[in-house]
Amino acid sequence: MKKFVSLPAWKGESPHRKCSCCIFFDAILLCQPLEQIHKMMQQNLLADRFGRRVNYLRVAVTDRCNFRCVYCMPEKGIRFKPATALLSAKEILRVIGLAGSLGVEKVRFTGGEPLLREDLPEILSEAAALPGIRSLHLTTNGLLLGKYLPALKKSGIHGVNISLDALQRERFRKITRRDAFQTVWENILQTLDAGIPEVKINVVALADLSESELVQFVALTQSHKVTVRFIELMPFNHETESWRTNAFTSAKRVLRLLNEHFSGLIPLEGSATEQQCFAIRDHRGKVAIIPAYTRSMCGSCSRLRLTADGKLLNCLYAESGEELRDLLRLGISDEILLRTIQKAVFSKPKNGMLAQPHDSGKQTCMTEIGG
Ligand code: SF4
Repeated sequence: MKKFVSLPAWKGESPHRKCSCCIFFDAILLCQPLEQIHKMMQQNLLADRFGRRVNYLRVAVTDRCNFRCVYCMPEKGIRFKPATALLSAKEILRVIGLAGSLGVEKVRFTGGEPLLREDLPEILSEAAALPGIRSLHLTTNGLLLGKYLPALKKSGIHGVNISLDALQRERFRKITRRDAFQTVWENILQTLDAGIPEVKINVVALADLSESELVQFVALTQSHKVTVRFIELMPFNHETESWRTNAFTSAKRVLRLLNEHFSGLIPLEGSATEQQCFAIRDHRGKVAIIPAYTRSMCGSCSRLRLTADGKLLNCLYAESGEELRDLLRLGISDEILLRTIQKAVFSKPKNGMLAQPHDSGKQTCMTEIGG
């Protein structure tokens, strides 16, 4: 017997019902790799129109941050959302559980600064126990890492990415608008010694990243089992002007500098975002490049994002998404929520260029999206 499901209303449409064959037929109309999509749908996995499997959920748990990085938000006057607008721990865990039942295996907690949320260790521990979830990760600015490290280890976290854009105190202060380099640095060293399986340092490659500082960053991989990743600046600076002040430098330039300074680069397969990843002879760690603005890695994108206020975004550059918070608070059934997640994935844009609204060089603040 055919199984019908009620789909929530698309914008400007009334709610409607669709059977699973119709959902599959949509894929046929789009002339996509049908066999691949069909197979994933049969296995109840999340597949988009282009045959990409989505198995990675990034969850922003807060829009607040204790830094004010120049490329991310203005120094003053930013209006954070009231606590009631943010998803509760229970709501976050429900979404992760549903995503896990659709084949999502990896979850990354982001923000804002996720460690500003005191219930994060409990969220992590509970998320670790959810069926299907295989690895939990955190992206943090590192300021509160020392305090939370024991609890993070206890939760069984698999990876911690720490943002660190400068190795000199003064440049760090200029970028973050906080004089906190020493604390962050000590916390990074503690994290590297804590036995967490995967530690990465995320460096936004700004135009004033000098060759010598780049070399110093890469030198960290000599004695530490860490991946240093250079990430292109993205146009998420709220309404400030940092995007227009020639702060951008390309992944190509970073690659050229790496090749100039390190003769023994050995190409490796990195994560989906790490378009280039290298081991270096006699170094314990790795170095990687993420062309986040150029967006040349979209073909293998496996990500879905949940914003702190409960929007499900199918691309970093998408301006709108499914409003899960409202559905969660209306007491909507798991079945409808599952269909909503599937719908968001199915309509994932082919790439971030197509997802970005044409009239804007910027979108909302990064802390709202979760990086
Ligand atoms: S820009 Fe969008 S489609 Fe491309 S990798 Fe990022 S999230 Fe995926």
